[in-house]
Amino acid sequence: MIPCAMSTASINGWCLTSTSSALRRATLRPPTFARLNSSVSPPTLIRNQPVFAAPAPLLVPSNWNEEMGSKSYEEAIEALKKLMSEKGELKASAAAKVDQITAELKTASSDGKPSDASVERLKEGFIYFKREKYEKNPALYAELAKGQSPKYMIVACSDSRVCPSHVLDMQPGEAFVVRNVANMVPPYDQTRYSGIGAAVEYAVLHLKVQEIVVIGHSACGGIKGLMSFPYDGTTSTDFIEDWVKIGMPAKTKVLADNRGEPLGVQCTCCEKEAVNVSLGNLLSYPFVRTGLVNKTLALKGGYYDFIKGTFELWSLQFALSAPLSVKDVATILHWKLY
Ligand SMILES: [Zn+2]
Repeated sequence: MIPCAMSTASINGWCLTSTSSALRRATLRPPTFARLNSSVSPPTLIRNQPVFAAPAPLLVPSNWNEEMGSKSYEEAIEALKKLMSEKGELKASAAAKVDQITAELKTASSDGKPSDASVERLKEGFIYFKREKYEKNPALYAELAKGQSPKYMIVACSDSRVCPSHVLDMQPGEAFVVRNVANMVPPYDQTRYSGIGAAVEYAVLHLKVQEIVVIGHSACGGIKGLMSFPYDGTTSTDFIEDWVKIGMPAKTKVLADNRGEPLGVQCTCCEKEAVNVSLGNLLSYPFVRTGLVNKTLALKGGYYDFIKGTFELWSLQFALSAPLSVKDVATILHWKLY
């Protein structure tokens, strides 16, 4: 079950943390900003008083998440009403807010089109960002309006839990970020991988970043796929198998070094080893090699474990010789934060 944050997710003692994305929106902001009426014009969205009273202690039914995750919207709304009605101390004002929530949930379409609730979530997010960050850092945003000069290029997974700006507390302008499934950097190939090639080229030649950091992470679905797909000529995906195959050298090494280990152990090893494969692939980009030789660019590998709450960083020393071929690779830096 997902732990419920004390300050963000309660209505009269009931935690609204849920596996339903439509319900989850109610958990994203402190109560001060948990506006739930979608019919009000933007300036009134920001309030300085709590929308909900949130008395302690939080009471979370043990089967709440499981039940909500398996129900349709309609069933979930009914369950929400039932739970609320069972709370005898529910105040009228809070009950009205529950009605607003349920009304919004009913407007959420099931055909994949943006619903009022999902649009409202985006509006709330931008309004919060603008008021709490943009307008409170005028010097930063005035500087960024002139241009960007990030120190880092970061390659991270698209996984929703590993946003590098959050995990590394990066401010806008600090990192040029590329995210894809399993944080892969493919070998230099102008015909197959122009997307990431363009990003590396732009970061190195135009933005002149000083570091490229490839960051893997725990429980990576892309790496699990790499370790699980048979690659026997059959395919079950349109793109994923071919994409994560970039990390095949890591899979081969991990299987050789960890034969007989459970899949979970092999996946963890591969999550890190695939980072090294990507670092090696970066050497196939001529402008990356030039940057390394001139010492204007460095490469680092990282690993974020969101289960343990740890972050590792390491650097690979690539000994390059004319004409910029790789002679040797060694780990020269490795630290881990707990
Ligand atoms: Zn991932």
